[in-house]
Amino acid sequence: MNENVNIRFENAASECPICFEPYTKDGLHRITTTKCGHLFGLHCILKSLTINPTCPSCRKRARKRELVQIYDTGVVAVDSSDMDNLKLELIQERKLREKVLLKREIHLF
Ligand SMILES: [Zn+2]
Ligand SMILES: [Zn+2]
Repeated sequence: MNENVNIRFENAASECPICFEPYTKDGLHRITTTKCGHLFGLHCILKSLTINPTCPSCRKRARKRELVQIYDTGVVAVDSSDMDNLKLELIQERKLREKVLLKREIHLF
């Protein structure tokens, strides 16, 4: 029982939790994080936030203009056994992007 839960979790970490497809390096399904730090494919989270402006993972308030795209950092290619490092990297990345976002808005939408 526990094993199944763990396997599901690992899979979810490398796939978009909305459509269960893997992330892409760029394009419409590139990896995107909400302010709360959860990851989604770009067009999936955009669609989701249009309907309901909360994070689909934790239900915290989330807005389109607060989304941060993770550019090609190698994170996507990292094996899921490196999950702890990956999470740390993403948190650092997110903080960095937040600083950038304060200076200039991303006109993606
Ligand atoms: Zn998706
Ligand atoms: Zn969240």
